[in-house]
Amino acid sequence: MQDERRPVLSVEEALERILATVRVLEPERVPILEALGRVLAEEVVADRNIPPLPNSAMDGYAVRAADVARVPARLRVIAEAPAGRLCPVEVGPGSAVRIMTGAPIPAGADAVVPFEHTRVVQDSSCPTADEWIEVLRETRPGANVREAGEDVRAGQVVLTPGRVLRPQEIGMLAALGRTEVAVIRRPRVAILATGDEVVPPWETPGPGQIRDANSYTVAAQVRRYGGIPLILGVARDEETLIREGVRRALAERADLIVTSGGVSIGDFDLVKQVLAAEGEMRFWSLNMKPGRPLAFGVVGGVPLVGLPGNPVSAMIATELFVRPAVLKMQGFTEWPWPELRARLADPIVRKDGRRHYLRVRLRETADGWEATLTGDQGSGILSSLVQADGLAVIPEDVDHLPAGAEVRVLRI
Ligand code: AMP
Ligand code: MG
Repeated sequence: MQDERRPVLSVEEALERILATVRVLEPERVPILEALGRVLAEEVVADRNIPPLPNSAMDGYAVRAADVARVPARLRVIAEAPAGRLCPVEVGPGSAVRIMTGAPIPAGADAVVPFEHTRVVQDSSCPTADEWIEVLRETRPGANVREAGEDVRAGQVVLTPGRVLRPQEIGMLAALGRTEVAVIRRPRVAILATGDEVVPPWETPGPGQIRDANSYTVAAQVRRYGGIPLILGVARDEETLIREGVRRALAERADLIVTSGGVSIGDFDLVKQVLAAEGEMRFWSLNMKPGRPLAFGVVGGVPLVGLPGNPVSAMIATELFVRPAVLKMQGFTEWPWPELRARLADPIVRKDGRRHYLRVRLRETADGWEATLTGDQGSGILSSLVQADGLAVIPEDVDHLPAGAEVRVLRI
């Protein structure tokens, strides 16, 4: 039965409307390791040069290049320069300083000859306490010398807002002496299950009751995509109780509210009534399967997504609509799906003009990926998702496909 007041939207139209309502959140300062995978909210400027001084790129000898323009060249080793200290000697003509990687180049030297291009020589006719070496390869000025600031210059803008921080950016922040950094904060996502028949996982279900799977699937998805899930528990199918749950979500300073159940016509459209009474309602029916009914609205300035109760529908709708919203709130500007193309192992018959998301297992074969349906595709069959590696997307206008046809598969 199709309600006249519920326009049937495509997945794209529904997502567009949700994203138009969802705003990027404010920045917060966090320790740099907590910033991994998050979106930078400040400009990061270098406070000093990296490296701070010219230093050696190799273990070897700091020399004057002019002395080793012709080889072999015999040099006297006058000192040793370890990393982390300034060696106060000056390298004069005919001399060299033994130097370690990263150690500042001593005054007078302008090149480093690696150990492997030298040999230690003993001069028995004139024994001394000093070591003598012979440089065996010609060495140009600047060879194996890292210039001050060659990595990062003092005052340089190293990272700009909007950047997604990966391990290398975290390391750069540390190198710049930053212990904290401003990133967009994570959204708090309140999750409310509804249904007279639904009990928390720790309760023993009575006759006809089932345990609440949706709150946990959705909480796990929210966490995976960087949000902070707040599980509010189960509200019974009464408008006042669902209203009370929504108010609790607002009191918990939720940035997004996700409910499950109570959006289908058979459920008296409870979530729809609550949205109408407490805020602004934009209730839709989607041209997809599973997950036709989806409620969306705003209560107390906070967007609310009302998922269908069926566990498969709830998870898929969360992937399609809640994931992009949660990522946008954290400052991401794109949320591409990990996807691939695969050949169907089974034919698909009798479609109904909706976009179908079929649960499939993926197998890599000699000629690409093969997708096999994971049995019963009913929207209540949670185990079909447990067995699945992906969702095969069958477009609206395709009503049958032979085995072997190529399809798009979203990895889950
Ligand atoms: P509804 O959308 O409320 O009509 O629910 C559709 C189906 O999903 C019914 O079979 C419910 O029992 C089931 N369901 C609703 N909420 C949950 C939940 N939190 N966990 C598991 N199944 C649920
Ligand atoms: Mg229900």
